[in-house]
Amino acid sequence: MNVVYISIGIVISLWIFGNLHRRRKRRGKIIHVVENHCTGCRRCIKRCTRSVLEMIEDETGIHATVKYPGKCTACGDCLGKCKFNALKLIER
Ligand code: SF4
Ligand code: SF4
Repeated sequence: MNVVYISIGIVISLWIFGNLHRRRKRRGKIIHVVENHCTGCRRCIKRCTRSVLEMIEDETGIHATVKYPGKCTACGDCLGKCKFNALKLIER
């Protein structure tokens, strides 16, 4: 039984340290849209729960843009949704 508790403790500790490490790495960063890679698929916009991103149309076509940079926590959730390598985390 002790082995089970120790294993659970190790898994929880690794999860906590992993999250702290990821958070520290992302501090001071913000999402950036590489406009000429963006196809306007909207997957990132649907994924961002903080409504940071928005779709715009300009002379380069329809693409995502960072509408509210102050709201971006650099969580990275939207990165995995982009299949076109159009999102990057950059320094603020
Ligand atoms: S990094 Fe997170 S908060 Fe920032 S735009 Fe992407 S999903 Fe939204
Ligand atoms: S997921 Fe990528 S390609 Fe799709 S709208 Fe967002 S940035 Fe553009």
